[in-house]
Amino acid sequence: MTRQLNAEVRHETPASTRSEEAYARALAVFPDGTSRVTIERDPIPKYMGRGEGAYLFDVDGNRFLDLNGNFTTLIHGHAFRPVVEAVYRQLASGSCFANPTQMEIELASILCERIPNVDRVRFVNTGTEAVMFAIKAARAFTGKAGIAKFEGAYHGAYDWVEVSQSASPENWGPADDPASVPLYKGMPESVLQETLVLRFNDTELLEKKLQAHGHWIAAVIIDPMPSRAGLIAPNPGFLEALHRLCRHHSVLIIADEVLNLRQGYHGASARYGLKPDLITMGKIIGGGLPIGAIGGREEVMQVFSAKSGRPLLPQGGTFSANPLSIVAGIAAMRALDKAAFARLDRLGDRLRANLTEIIGQRDAPFVVTGSGSLFRIHPMRRKPREFRDTATNPAQNAVLGTLSRFFSRHGVILPNGAAACLSTPMEETEIDTISDLFGLFLEEHAADINNIEKPE
Ligand code: PMP
Repeated sequence: MTRQLNAEVRHETPASTRSEEAYARALAVFPDGTSRVTIERDPIPKYMGRGEGAYLFDVDGNRFLDLNGNFTTLIHGHAFRPVVEAVYRQLASGSCFANPTQMEIELASILCERIPNVDRVRFVNTGTEAVMFAIKAARAFTGKAGIAKFEGAYHGAYDWVEVSQSASPENWGPADDPASVPLYKGMPESVLQETLVLRFNDTELLEKKLQAHGHWIAAVIIDPMPSRAGLIAPNPGFLEALHRLCRHHSVLIIADEVLNLRQGYHGASARYGLKPDLITMGKIIGGGLPIGAIGGREEVMQVFSAKSGRPLLPQGGTFSANPLSIVAGIAAMRALDKAAFARLDRLGDRLRANLTEIIGQRDAPFVVTGSGSLFRIHPMRRKPREFRDTATNPAQNAVLGTLSRFFSRHGVILPNGAAACLSTPMEETEIDTISDLFGLFLEEHAADINNIEKPE
């Protein structure tokens, strides 16, 4: 498959002088010159000027196809007209009130109507907050404090879910008894003790661990397709066992769909047959503005209710359900009808199939995972089944870095390592550009790629 590369997209990116100037100033005010650990800098961050549809323009005027979408948030790309108009209108009428608005009912109704098991909703400001309140809700409902999570899975910055987020072969412990690995020095020992670490798609371990520890576990939190842990699908038998065991041990299931709600009109749990008690949402439901939401079964969500006095779990938030995020979310979600999801699925299938075909033709040591509008390229031959299979050695990491830099030089932002995503303004042309670029990468970097499989 050696189609001519889309000439418009292909360009060499010169050293970015304005980005360099900005970074020099930023180094004087931020600990490492950035305000988020996730900012890619290779060797310096690209400072963005503006975004339009599927494309970003940096401060030096270079254009990039954006496969990051602010960490999968921007399902309609940048400056989506209906969102822009809704936010302008709302801004002129006030940006936040201590009182509820009619609009928040509309966004909540969209979620209740579309997402199975979401009978009631509460809005917050980020995915981290949604996960935090879902965990607290599970504790308040069950009267238990402990949390079980899957090794390597990312759920934001609440301490308990940070356990084993960055576990590595040096510290993750035996496969049949994973260690609770701290994320940072000084992480409270009590948090480590209160967090049970499981392995995705390992039914035997799940059964053993819940049998021994279910009595102190409030909830198992599961991202149906954990991005940082590999963007790997759950085995149907694994989810069946999860339901059975959680019910048996009176443990709730929290589906963290902050990222994966974008997998379908009814969300990711519906796609894989997961039936959670609580669901956390974020990213796409705010149309590009900050948001988070906790949804769930009526009975469990009643912990938030103050109807008959003090709720079992008080939840507030100065900016929770702020009208700007809400109207942006309504505009984005209304445009995401079933046809829009079907189209994203088709584009995603085409891309994953193209990449897999190119890998096969060249017998290259890569494999593609993902589903719907999400994909991830792993520098290995075997499809990973869970987080431990995704561990990479220095040669593999080097190739992933080279791949991201190569894409960037050719005007495409491909996130290094985690999930890459498509957006509704993309067409087949963009899909073919990505595939062709990957083919070109395999051709031009054959020597680097060979290093992956050389014995160390
Ligand atoms: N859960 C998951 C699955 C996520 O992917 C993220 C963000 N990447 C979060 C929680 C945290 O969301 P936020 O960054 O909005 O706090």
